[in-house]
Amino acid sequence: MKSGKQRRTEIQVQRAEQRDDAADAAAKLRLDERARNAKLANGEKARELALVSKRLHVNPANLGPNVSWGWPEFVHRGYYVDQPFSCRACGKEQVWSATQQRWWFESAKGDVWTVAVHCRTCRIKERERKNLARRTHLEGVARKRSDGA
Ligand SMILES: [Zn+2]
Repeated sequence: MKSGKQRRTEIQVQRAEQRDDAADAAAKLRLDERARNAKLANGEKARELALVSKRLHVNPANLGPNVSWGWPEFVHRGYYVDQPFSCRACGKEQVWSATQQRWWFESAKGDVWTVAVHCRTCRIKERERKNLARRTHLEGVARKRSDGA
């Protein structure tokens, strides 16, 4: 038969063990959380790195003319970013993509201070209108010449 004192000691030991278990569980939880946060941070870092490596960097040597003082924002920033705008002619919401900008400034040598104002459809329409006007003008000139001869 166990004495009352023995029984009390056993209960105290049991409780102490339970407290230790709870403390261990809490510590494990904290470790798990730290590991999860570290994993998230690594994922975030990897995503950031992927974004950085996808950036279209400005190559200043390729830029077209700059007749104004200073340089526009994208040159200071060092890379192109997609730019939303609404078409001046039809009002359609558009994005002037980083790729299109790089082509415009570095391949087409567009003035560094110019920005897209018309959507693709309206640009094509405008070009056709100008071509037609030029053709009509040239035909008129040719007709005048042949009339005079
Ligand atoms: Zn348009």
